[in-house]
Amino acid sequence: MTADQPRNEGPIIQCPVCRATQTARQVCRRCSADLALFVRTRISGLAARRRLAEAVAAGDAVAQARLQGYLRWLHG
Ligand SMILES: [Zn+2]
Repeated sequence: MTADQPRNEGPIIQCPVCRATQTARQVCRRCSADLALFVRTRISGLAARRRLAEAVAAGDAVAQARLQGYLRWLHG
């Protein structure tokens, strides 16, 4: 990561095809790969991790188990 990367424009992703680093977008800026599903999966994982942290802070064991199961499924 470099200091001149834009902030607050969504998560930074790395294209799984050409490895170009960029803000989340539908199509890779370098190789034009369709990143729509990749970006949706990444955003969903980040949201689940944030909700998991909230569930841990709140002591909600049911939500923790559900979110941990989802994250295991998502990341294999
Ligand atoms: Zn690419």
